[in-house]
Amino acid sequence: MSLGACGEFGLIERIRAQVAGRDDILIGIGDDCCATVLPPGEILLTTTDLLLEEIHFRRAWTDLFALGRKAVAVNISDIAAMGGTPRTLSLGLGLPADLPPADFDQLIAGILSAAREYGAVLSGGDTCRSPGGLMLSVTVQGSIQPEQILRRSGARPGDLLYVSGTLGDSAWALRELLAGRTPEDALAQRHHRPTARLGLGQELAQRRLATALIDLSDGLRADLGHILAASGVGACVHAAALPLSPTFRAALAIEPGLLDLALAGGEDYELLWSAPSAAAVALATLSDELALPLTCIGAIVAGAGLKVIAADGSEYISAKMGYNHFA
Ligand code: ADP
Ligand code: MG
Repeated sequence: MSLGACGEFGLIERIRAQVAGRDDILIGIGDDCCATVLPPGEILLTTTDLLLEEIHFRRAWTDLFALGRKAVAVNISDIAAMGGTPRTLSLGLGLPADLPPADFDQLIAGILSAAREYGAVLSGGDTCRSPGGLMLSVTVQGSIQPEQILRRSGARPGDLLYVSGTLGDSAWALRELLAGRTPEDALAQRHHRPTARLGLGQELAQRRLATALIDLSDGLRADLGHILAASGVGACVHAAALPLSPTFRAALAIEPGLLDLALAGGEDYELLWSAPSAAAVALATLSDELALPLTCIGAIVAGAGLKVIAADGSEYISAKMGYNHFA
């Protein structure tokens, strides 16, 4: 059987049948709009990401369950980067007519498993045939108390800069894949199965431990650049302080140029934030609670732009500045 034989409404029904309702979703899949109740006093957060075959992924490199999970995780990462709580997920699908139904089922299973994990209910979407590759458009809506929102614009000179997890593994995996090599499994996992740091974003907002917050999708340089521009400040980052996985650190000793992947490679999906220095102890406690490294990598300074300081104290100049679709 082909996808075409299911028809648009057959495919939608195949999705709907797997979705459990929830009290705050008054109307889910099956009407003209979904209708969601927000907790009292909270406001709506909305974020969308497109994933296009051959631009964001290749079907030869990933199984569709992992792709579905990633499509959700990259959106949840944006909700995390405001400090919010995910509520609903809307799924736009452009499906090639020759997509095997088993792949369709795997894709939906991946999307639903990640949505469940992060607390978002699939509550609508659109389903079309694609004349080209597979296309996914995921929109997640979440909510937050307005006074807790963490924007990109709140960084002040004297704040410290923190990043979660480790940097560069995902970009390194992508470099290996593009070169026709098979990345080590730990690296491939970071690329194909990113984790959104949702709990961290929420705790930073609720405990007021950040002045500005962003998630790292385009690389540290580019994403920190957004905080600096929005806040009207500069930053100083110490290359030796960047958190790296043991695999990455070992390889860096042999190939120093790998540092650019930690500084400017994309798709880490870690969080980057500025915090008053008085928050350092509370952040160390939070790191223990979440069992997640939260590393101080530098500081916000007056002025503009980012200065990366090498181990010998000189300024480090990167060859790579971050991902830009139209560059
Ligand atoms: P309309 O023509 O009013 O946009 P559709 O026939 O496209 O409605 O969709 C019918 C219902 O199925 C709607 O509730 C829509 O949100 C939902 N839906 C369509 N495609 C998807 C999808 N890929 N995932 C989840 N829900 C979907
Ligand atoms: Mg429609």
